[in-house]
Amino acid sequence: MHQKFDELKKAFDAALSAAQDKDILESVRTEFLGRKGRLADLMTGLKDLSEDERRAVGPSANEAKRAMEEAFARAESELRSRAVREEEWIDVTAPVFPEESIGHIHPVTLIQQKLEDLFISMGFMVLDGPELESDYYNFTALNMPPDHPARDMQDTFYIKGHPDQVMRTQTSPVQIRAMRKYGAPIRMIAPGRCFRNEATDARHEHTFYQLEGLVIDKGITFSHMKGVMEAVAVHLFGPDTKLRLMPKFYPFVEPGVRGELNCFLCAGEGCRVCKNTGWLEAMPGGMVHPRVLEAGGLDPNTYQGFAFGFGLSRLAMLKYGIDDSRLMQSGDVRFLAQF
Ligand SMILES: [Zn+2]
Repeated sequence: MHQKFDELKKAFDAALSAAQDKDILESVRTEFLGRKGRLADLMTGLKDLSEDERRAVGPSANEAKRAMEEAFARAESELRSRAVREEEWIDVTAPVFPEESIGHIHPVTLIQQKLEDLFISMGFMVLDGPELESDYYNFTALNMPPDHPARDMQDTFYIKGHPDQVMRTQTSPVQIRAMRKYGAPIRMIAPGRCFRNEATDARHEHTFYQLEGLVIDKGITFSHMKGVMEAVAVHLFGPDTKLRLMPKFYPFVEPGVRGELNCFLCAGEGCRVCKNTGWLEAMPGGMVHPRVLEAGGLDPNTYQGFAFGFGLSRLAMLKYGIDDSRLMQSGDVRFLAQF
């Protein structure tokens, strides 16, 4: 009886390896494994044996059955994948993805890269800072002690169980870190992500991008700042761009300014984007407050400097005519594909 199973297994293996297409494979299945096939036939024969003989033959009969079924499944799947390989002609030199699905650089990243190029050409360092900041670096060192009313303008996300940690509301804390690390003179920018507890609408997002700038040396004046802001404006928006400085309060500068660009959409005529003023608010900055210099470890009687914090998201919206800031974080490929 053992021998019969061995013989059947051999005949089956031979038939299987000769089966080169689906139809032959199917006929092998019917002949050997089918309900009335040779295996079933042999199994039926087992019931004519004595109980002792059955016990002796049973395990090897089952083993043969299992091996045959496995071998068949293997042959079947091999045949299937060979068919797929033959059907698909693969050009190994073709690009992995079609051109259009490679993706696009995000408009904020485009603006950031343009500005990094410009500032590096003017001798600025490009620095980075933590997004989770200490309350001290984010507020106090920037002349916003805990009771300062300006803190209300920058409500942020606090960390549960760590009252001294905040998601930074601005890139300005990098100013303090840079002054402490490198001293003066210094020229640096720090692009990065910021967070505020805002109700989101077309102009406000809880997550946005700024580019901080700081220049400190002996004899730095307001006109140095205006020169740098003008260089940025022309670099981003073209040679006809005009800049005007309007006074504005920021706790970390004195005096502070709101740098405005002439509206390139309506050429100063007045439109929806510039709220009919002909000017676009784009470049906040000012002369670094003496207390901020002190917090950075510098003597305000020796050093002066200016700082600015451009909203990269805002500049990208102006540059590319994006009318809803929520699109920036939407992850919508149709939006990104336009840049
Ligand atoms: Zn306008």
